[in-house]
Amino acid sequence: MANNIPENGTLLPLMEEFYTIQGEGYNTGKAAYFIRLGGCDVGCHWCDVKESWNADLHELTPTDEIVKHAKNYPGKAVVVTGGEPLIYNLDDLTQKLKAAEMLTFIETSGAYPLSGIWDWICLSPKKFKAPRPDILPLANELKVIVFNKSDFQWAEEHAQHVSPHCKLYLQPEWSKSKEMTPMIIDYVMANPKWEISLQTHKYLNIP
Ligand code: SF4
Repeated sequence: MANNIPENGTLLPLMEEFYTIQGEGYNTGKAAYFIRLGGCDVGCHWCDVKESWNADLHELTPTDEIVKHAKNYPGKAVVVTGGEPLIYNLDDLTQKLKAAEMLTFIETSGAYPLSGIWDWICLSPKKFKAPRPDILPLANELKVIVFNKSDFQWAEEHAQHVSPHCKLYLQPEWSKSKEMTPMIIDYVMANPKWEISLQTHKYLNIP
């Protein structure tokens, strides 16, 4: 984590921000403004945004400025992602986004305490740093990345602790998708409480 980040969350290490289409999970296909915060110590070896890990490399940016940029686009959904965004206190950012009448979505591993006001919580638990038990019942969506066969068991263990309304997704890890997608298809047909999530933005060649 970067030093000198105020605990009130008014400055956040912004890695990048861009307007695009949400490519995965429940909100797939929706226009959304992505806010990617730097800093993550979860350490997934297959992570495709390793350049996010060191928060010190990403400029501390006032939340007022981030919200001002987000308001410039016609889409009213914002996805806060990382890195692991819950390393930081997200109350200030989300209060300002809600005041601007934006929908707030988060993508998190759940490894840090929940802060912020959210319309949609996508919890993607990682074996390398397990989620906090208190976030599981709050998830609107449980999205498990499948890198190998043992991830099905990992997915089921976490599905036992989410709310009955939580959407359940299995998503092939991109580099293993040729191998894992057929297994996920078979698994979902045999266990239809699960659905497949694909990283459609990678197929569409958009960020
Ligand atoms: S939690 Fe996300 S950002 Fe962090 S290492 Fe894993 S995939 Fe990468």
